[in-house]
Amino acid sequence: MKKQPIILLSCGHFEKDMLKLISNDITRAFHYPVVHKECSFELSKFYNPGRRQYDGNGILKMVADKSTPDALKTIGLFRVDFFIPILTYIFGQATLNGDVGIVSLFRLRNELYGLARNNDLQIERFRKVILHELGHTFGLIHCHNPVCVMRSSTYVEDIDQKKILFCQYCQDKLNNNLDRLLMVEE
Ligand SMILES: [Zn+2]
Ligand SMILES: [Zn+2]
Repeated sequence: MKKQPIILLSCGHFEKDMLKLISNDITRAFHYPVVHKECSFELSKFYNPGRRQYDGNGILKMVADKSTPDALKTIGLFRVDFFIPILTYIFGQATLNGDVGIVSLFRLRNELYGLARNNDLQIERFRKVILHELGHTFGLIHCHNPVCVMRSSTYVEDIDQKKILFCQYCQDKLNNNLDRLLMVEE
């Protein structure tokens, strides 16, 4: 049986080389093919002029509404600054055991913190946030292991501490969840 793809949805310009790295990460971690799509969403209605940020909950819902049934999961890639009502900002969010997630590069750039631009570091952070959010969609919750990609991150320094990997505990749980998913599909 052909496996449903995980859709990588670019909402903004993202370099091809980076998308390739992200696709490889996803296939390696979850064993599903990745299909890249460009999104054509109008983001302006999610802009909050008071906060000068975009409504993460609204955008997550929009990605869910527009995701096609052939997709196993859809992860939206953005460059805008997200907020949710209870937090100043978020790097990304996803529905636990759901089929959508969103991530943003905005807060991952060194320039935002008065540091020199570092493209490699920014890409590495983005890859970690993407695996983290997809991990949630595959049923993983936050982990206390400081180097596990499922550890929650408040600051970019927290992301920098993590590896682009699941710890053994999360990996075992993920393997179980992936097996269960395959049994349902067959
Ligand atoms: Zn999380
Ligand atoms: Zn873990």
